[in-house]
Amino acid sequence: MALSFEEQTRIDLAATFRIIAHLGMHEAVANHFSAAISADGKQFLLNPKWKHFSRIRASDLLLLDADDPACAQRSDVDATAWSIHGQIHQRLPEVRVVLHLHPVYTTSVACLAEPHIPPIDQNSARYFNRVAVDTLYGGMADTVEEGARLASLLAGKSRLLMGNHGVMVTGTDIGEAFDDVWTLERACQILVTAWSTGQPLKILSDEVAEKTARAWEGIPDFSRQHFAEMKALMIAADPSLLD
Ligand SMILES: [Zn+2]
Repeated sequence: MALSFEEQTRIDLAATFRIIAHLGMHEAVANHFSAAISADGKQFLLNPKWKHFSRIRASDLLLLDADDPACAQRSDVDATAWSIHGQIHQRLPEVRVVLHLHPVYTTSVACLAEPHIPPIDQNSARYFNRVAVDTLYGGMADTVEEGARLASLLAGKSRLLMGNHGVMVTGTDIGEAFDDVWTLERACQILVTAWSTGQPLKILSDEVAEKTARAWEGIPDFSRQHFAEMKALMIAADPSLLD
C-alpha cells in the first residue's frame, strides 16, 4: 500500500537524522530538523527533545501546530526549537523543511568577524551570493521574537549562516536540503583547510562562480539521489528507522 505524505515524510526526516549522525555533523542531543505536513506549513514534524539523532525512528517525530501555543509547554518539545522552527513554519509556508546544525567547519566560518564563503572550488561556488548572514547572536534563542527575526532573514534566501552559532538550511524537499547542508559543510572544510595553509587563496571570478552556482541549481536530482543512496544505507544498517 502506498504511504501517505506524512508517513513518507516521517521516514525521510528520520533518515536525515541518522545520516547526519553517521557523518558526525550532529551536536550532542541538541539541534533540530522540521518538515511541514500541511499545505499552509503550520502542521510540522519535529524531533523530540534530547533524543540522539542516531536512534530516531519515523514514529518518534512529533506532529506540532505552529498556531498552538500549548506545544511550547510540552515536556518533549525543546523551547529553542519551538521558538525557531515554529516561527519559520508559521511565517514561511513555502518552506517545507528546516535543518539546523552546528557542524564544525560551517560553524568555524560562522565565527569569523565577517562570516563569508569565498568561491574557491566547485563546492564553495555553489553558495556564491546565496547565503544570508546573521551576526546578532544573543544567547540561546528561546523567544518567539528571536524566531521571528531569524525567519525574516530567510526571506528570499534558503541558507542562513548564523554568526557565533551554526547554520540553518531550508528547502522544499528533504533530500535537497540534506545535500545542501552537507555540501556547505564540505565547502567550509575545504575553505578552512585552505585558509590554514597561510597561503593566499585563488578566488574564482564572479563570472565563473555564478556560472557554477547556476549549474548546481540545474541538478536538484543529483541532491535527491545523494539522499536516496544515504537513506538506503541507513535503512540497511538499522531498519528500526522505519518503525
Ligand atoms: Zn543551534
